[in-house]
Amino acid sequence: MGSISEYFGCNVFNDRVMKANLSAEVYQSLRKTMDEGAQLDPGVANAVATAMKDWAVSKGATHFTHWFQPLTGITAEKHDSFISPSPDGGVIMEFSGKELIKGEPDASSFPSGGLRATFEARGYTAWDPTSYAFIKGKTLCIPTAFCSYGGEALDKKTPLLRSMEALNKQALRILRLFGNTTAKCVRPAVGPEQEYFLITREMYDQRPDLRFTGRTLFGAKPPKGQQMEDHYFGVIKPRVQAYMDDLNEELWKQGILAKTEHNEVAPAQHELAPIYTTTNIATDHNQLTMEIMQKVAEKHGLVCLLHEKPFAGVNGSGKHNNWSIATDTGVNLLSPGDTPHENAQFLLILCAVIKAVDDYQDLLRITVATAGNDHRLGANEAPPAVVSIFLGDELNGILEAIENDTPYEGKEKTQLKLGVDVLPKFNRDTTDRNRTSPFAFTGNKFEFRMLGSANSIACTNIMLNTAVAESLKIYADTLEGAEDFETTLHEMIQKTIRDHKRIIFNGNGYDDAWIKEATEVRGLLNYRTTPDALPHLLDKKNVDMLVSHKVYTETELKSRCEITLDNYCKTVVIEANTMEDISKMQILPAVEKYVMDVSKAALAKKELDPSLECAYEMGIIRRLSALTDSIALRAEDLEKALIRLDNVGDVQKEAEMIRDEILPRMNELRLACDEAETLTAKDYWPFPKYGDLLFGVH
Ligand code: ADP
Ligand code: MG
Repeated sequence: MGSISEYFGCNVFNDRVMKANLSAEVYQSLRKTMDEGAQLDPGVANAVATAMKDWAVSKGATHFTHWFQPLTGITAEKHDSFISPSPDGGVIMEFSGKELIKGEPDASSFPSGGLRATFEARGYTAWDPTSYAFIKGKTLCIPTAFCSYGGEALDKKTPLLRSMEALNKQALRILRLFGNTTAKCVRPAVGPEQEYFLITREMYDQRPDLRFTGRTLFGAKPPKGQQMEDHYFGVIKPRVQAYMDDLNEELWKQGILAKTEHNEVAPAQHELAPIYTTTNIATDHNQLTMEIMQKVAEKHGLVCLLHEKPFAGVNGSGKHNNWSIATDTGVNLLSPGDTPHENAQFLLILCAVIKAVDDYQDLLRITVATAGNDHRLGANEAPPAVVSIFLGDELNGILEAIENDTPYEGKEKTQLKLGVDVLPKFNRDTTDRNRTSPFAFTGNKFEFRMLGSANSIACTNIMLNTAVAESLKIYADTLEGAEDFETTLHEMIQKTIRDHKRIIFNGNGYDDAWIKEATEVRGLLNYRTTPDALPHLLDKKNVDMLVSHKVYTETELKSRCEITLDNYCKTVVIEANTMEDISKMQILPAVEKYVMDVSKAALAKKELDPSLECAYEMGIIRRLSALTDSIALRAEDLEKALIRLDNVGDVQKEAEMIRDEILPRMNELRLACDEAETLTAKDYWPFPKYGDLLFGVH
C-alpha cells in the first residue's frame, strides 16, 4: 500500500472519479441531481452507468448490486454479474442506466410489518445519487432506497432522505428571515463514535450464547473487571493495534474518514470515530464500518462484538451521535456567531433543538429501543431512559438571563439584548464535562448518547431532523407574519425557554435522585423498556408531526412499530431458548461431572481413613447439588413461560409478557448458573469464562 492519500477512496466512485470519467455535460447534470435533487434524464443515466461499470470492471469487479438498508437493521445486497451474451458465443460486460436507477429484488423475506402482502413481494430499489457507489470485494455496490410498489418505504434510507429534506426546507425559511440569500441548502451532519469489543475467535467459537445471540447469557464476574479504570485510553496491545491498522486501511479505501481510535472503559472494549459528514452518508458509512469491523476481525483470528451488552457487569457499547446542521456554504448553525445578528440566529436554532427534544422525547427514546440497548440505558454506564439536555453552565446562564430579562453574569455583567449583544464564545472545555447526559451540547454540535452500538443511526437522525424541522416550521410561520421581527423573535425565544426548560439538566444523569425529579417534578417521560416505549410511536401528536413533514405515512409508522416489537420478541426468545439449551445440555452435565469426581475423591479418602470428615468435598457437593436442582427447576420454569408465549397473537402483548415473564426468569436462571460456575473447577466448565474472554487478546 502506498501513502494514505494515494489509496484513500480508491474503491469509491467519488467526485474525482466522476470528473475524470464523465463528459463535462454528464457530470454537470449528475451534480445537479446530487446537489439539488433534479430529475436525471435517461441519457445521462446511461452514460453514468457505463462509466461506473467501466471503472468497476477495471478494478476487478464482476458484479453489481443495489445496496440497501431493510428494516432488519443491517444491509442487504443481491449480486448480478455484468455479463451479457454476445452473438459470437462470448460475453460482454453491460450495465444500463435502467439497471443503475432501479432494481427489483425479490424481497418477500424482508420484514414489512404487514405493508406488503407476499403476493406483491417485489419491492423496488431506487438509486440514491447523493451517496457514492463503491466496490466491495468484486461487487459494485450502488446505495439505494427500498420501497414497495405502493411507494411505502421498506427501508431506513427513504425516511432519512425525507427528513433531511424537511429540515432543509424549514431551516432555509429561517435563514431567509435572517437575511441569508446565498445558502442553497441546509444539511444535518453526523459523526458517529462506534464502540465495540474484540475477543479471540477461538473462545468465541466455544460460546454458543455469543454465536447465537451476540452476547454472553452466562458468566460469573471475573476476579478483575473494569474496576481499575486502567483500560480507558490505555496503551493499545499489539494484536489490537494490528487489527486497528488493518481496519483503518480498509475503511479509508472505502472513502470512510476513520479518524480516532482508542481503548474504552471495559477491558477488550475499543472505539472508532470517523470525521463527521452528511447524515445520509454517515449512515451508509456507519453500516459499512460495522460490516468491515467484523470482516477484518476474522482475518486477525478475532471476533468483533457489536452487541450493546455482551457482558454483564462491565460496560456495554454505545454509539454517540454527534449532530449539527450546516449550510452548503459551510456555516454551522449550531455555532455561536461573531455578530449580534448571528447570535440571535444561533439562539433561535438552539431553542428549536430544545423544543424538539422536549416535545419529542418519546420519539428519541423509541429510536434507541432494542432488546440489547434495554440492558444499558439507566444502568450507570449509559444515560438513563429519561431524555434531557445538557447545555453547560455558561449557555444555561445565558438562557436564564434571556428568560428573566436579567443581566447575564458572564465575564462582565451585561444585559443581553438579542440582535444587539455578542455572546461569549463557549469553549469546548466548559461544555463537554458531563458524560452522563443523553443529549449534550458540546460547543457547536449536540451529542446524543443513548444509541446502542449495534443500532443503525438512521432512525435517531430521522426523528432528530424532523422534530427540529417542526420547531423551525412553527418559528418560521410566526416570524414570517411578524410586524416587528426583533420583538417577536425575542418573545419566541423567551417562550421556548419558559415552556421547555424542564428538559435542560446539567447535573449527573446517573443519579437516582435525578430520575425521581425528572419524572415526578418535571414530568419528563421514563420509558424503561422497549415495550414501554414503542406504542408511543403511534401517539397522535407523533403521527401528525411526522406525516405533516412527509417523512412517514401512518401506515409506515404502524409497520415500523410492529417490526421493532417483533424484533424485540424474537431476540429475547432466541436468547431464552439458547439459555435453556446451554443450561441443560452443557452446564448441568458439567457440574454433575464435577460433583461426581468430588464425590469419588471423598469416597476414596474415606476408604483410606474412615474418620475423615471430607468437609470440603461435602460442602461443594451440597451447594452444587442444591444449585443443580435450582438450575433444572428454573430452566423448566423458563420453558413453560416460553410455551405461554405461543399464540398470544398481539405483538405488543407478547413483548410485555417477555418483559414481565421471560426476562426475569432468564435472570434467575443465570444467577443460579453463575453461582455454580464459581464453585466448579475451571477444567470442568464447558466454555471460556469472563476472565479469559475479556483478557484473552494479547
Ligand atoms: P468525544 O470527545 O466525544 O470523543 P470528538 O471530539 O472525538 O468527541 O468528536 C466526536 C465526533 O464528533 C467525531 O466523529 C467528530 O467528527 C464529530 N464532530 C465534530 N464536529 C462536528 C460537527 N460540527 N457536527 C457533527 N459532528 C461533529
Ligand atoms: Mg463522545
